[in-house]
Amino acid sequence: MEIKLAENHGFCYGVKRAVEIATEASNEPGRSYTLGPIIHNPQVVDKLKNRGVSPIEEVSDISEGTMIIRSHGVGPEIYKEAEEKGLHVLDATCPHVKKAQMDAKSVIEDGMTLVILGEKNHPEVKSINLWAKNKGIIIEDEKNAENLQVVEKMGVVVQTTFSQFKFNSIIGVLEKKSKNLKVFKTICNATQERQNSAVDLAREVDLMIVVGGKNSGNTNRLAEVCRDVGCTTYHIETSAEIQLAWFENVQTVGVTAGASTPDWIIKEVIETMKEFEELLAAAGQEDFKKGNVVNGTVVQVEDER
Ligand code: SF4
Repeated sequence: MEIKLAENHGFCYGVKRAVEIATEASNEPGRSYTLGPIIHNPQVVDKLKNRGVSPIEEVSDISEGTMIIRSHGVGPEIYKEAEEKGLHVLDATCPHVKKAQMDAKSVIEDGMTLVILGEKNHPEVKSINLWAKNKGIIIEDEKNAENLQVVEKMGVVVQTTFSQFKFNSIIGVLEKKSKNLKVFKTICNATQERQNSAVDLAREVDLMIVVGGKNSGNTNRLAEVCRDVGCTTYHIETSAEIQLAWFENVQTVGVTAGASTPDWIIKEVIETMKEFEELLAAAGQEDFKKGNVVNGTVVQVEDER
């Protein structure tokens, strides 16, 4: 069984930076907190918790210490609130998100109508809008765009993980909604690159393993695009979920991971598959047919040969 890793996989620049900032904070004296889970990966969040960096929900949950702002970013009020409380703030907002926030702010300051392309309830989109005094109109799809009124001047800012395909089709609609359209193309390539690599790999292997938090939007999308090209795909968080039975008659396995999946989890997954490979080689694929491999558990195979 051959195991192939997608060309682009795992931590993106912004997530890597945020985790590094939180890890460095854990080495400093005093308590540190992240405003919300630092990334959508429960294993990384737990690891940081064990090092004394705990997630909080609101600034009001703490009265002292260091507060880390995660890569999705927050609105200006949060910085103000933290400053008033005398908290030490470490800003792990991804620079790509920061740029989108500042672009949105400038659109409003320049008296244009602000349109934000993105998911209404995503924390990044909310943070971008907060920098624009919540004056942005959030557009999720072409239908939303069709319903917009024609305006004199329009500025468009885009959620960093927005699909390029959707962006192109929505911009086509927005061009009819304003004669003065200024587009800030704030899409970050990390997500698209991971999706393209996953699709390329899914087309050539028998099975795809997608590693990452079940609560991670970009990891779920990776699994979706692999399934869309007809490849059997399993989305797992850790190596503990891998089942031997998945590899029956499988010659090549592709592995990819979401932008919030650390290298150590990917490595564990590959190591586990290599162990399974050895088991399979020792047992022979015939044992599947004889029922020696029972749904999901590592089996004790009786050698009848
Ligand atoms: Fe930053 Fe892009 Fe990663 Fe989002 S996906 S955190 S914008 S590098």
